[in-house]
Amino acid sequence: MPSARQIILARNSSRILGWALTLIGLTPIIIVLLNAWTSGVSLLDLSALYDYLWANPFYIGFGIGFELIYLIIAGTVGIILGVFLLARKRGQVEEVTIISDDLSVTVECTVCKNRWKEDFSKTQLQSMGFPQNRTISRRQCVNCGKFTRPKIVSM
Ligand SMILES: [Zn+2]
Repeated sequence: MPSARQIILARNSSRILGWALTLIGLTPIIIVLLNAWTSGVSLLDLSALYDYLWANPFYIGFGIGFELIYLIIAGTVGIILGVFLLARKRGQVEEVTIISDDLSVTVECTVCKNRWKEDFSKTQLQSMGFPQNRTISRRQCVNCGKFTRPKIVSM
């Protein structure tokens, strides 16, 4: 199971990659649409815009050129991948955090020995001084009604 540090690093790098892909995808689309607009093509006239995209090649150098429509398609693919990455990784991280963080612990009332289960996160247990300190914070026992500091008996 990955550690918390690994999870944060994975989340950050996938978020950066997701945003980068989205921005890289958006840039050519904005440039092409701006060029179309300055060439006098109305962005609301979709068939004129479509014709413009097919009729005008884009040169990347060495005499290699391709129609602007491919820039739009590549940009759209980049945006879809970026958004997909941003949405997907976030879901995975939440799943891992829930599995690794919550522990079901059996605690025992020091007065009547009544036992029940409570959920604690690892960080909560560490801040209480577990495993050296096995008593949890003061609370009322549902069985005998006394206020005690229940003891952790198993987990
Ligand atoms: Zn009790």
